[in-house]
Amino acid sequence: MTVLRITEYPAKVLAEVGEPVTKFDAAMRRLCEDMFETMYAEEGAGLAAAQVGLGLRLFVMDYVGVRLVAANPEMLSAEGEQPGEEGCLSVGKIHAPLRRAERVLLRAQDVEGNWYEQEAEGPAARCLQHETDHCDGRLFITRLSPLKREMVLKKFQKMKK
Ligand SMILES: [Zn+2]
Repeated sequence: MTVLRITEYPAKVLAEVGEPVTKFDAAMRRLCEDMFETMYAEEGAGLAAAQVGLGLRLFVMDYVGVRLVAANPEMLSAEGEQPGEEGCLSVGKIHAPLRRAERVLLRAQDVEGNWYEQEAEGPAARCLQHETDHCDGRLFITRLSPLKREMVLKKFQKMKK
């Protein structure tokens, strides 16, 4: 297994809608293993393909007891609201408060291509929303108010120096 390099803001791939995953072969299994390895090395809760430079609708997650591979994810439902903080490996793990849906139902394919549905609430639901956003070319900072976004990006730029 290989720890991949994290793609950071403002890389173009992070702002692009991913291509659907169509091949569930050995290369796909290997990619998912490498993405898990990378996520663990970076101490992330989830990691999307765009974050390792690949324009694919794919993420992995291992957080609060939910471990999964999600290819071609779609949110079937989202309800309620939760306050909380959110950060991203592609934006230096700088946290900002962001409201998300409290409960979600996700539909996705596993590493073999089998469709499944995953219910989640609280922190797990937040993670699923964050990672599904990545597949749609959306960083969490695009959901922040302009002022908060500016604060996160300033901190990130300082970090990079
Ligand atoms: Zn992220």
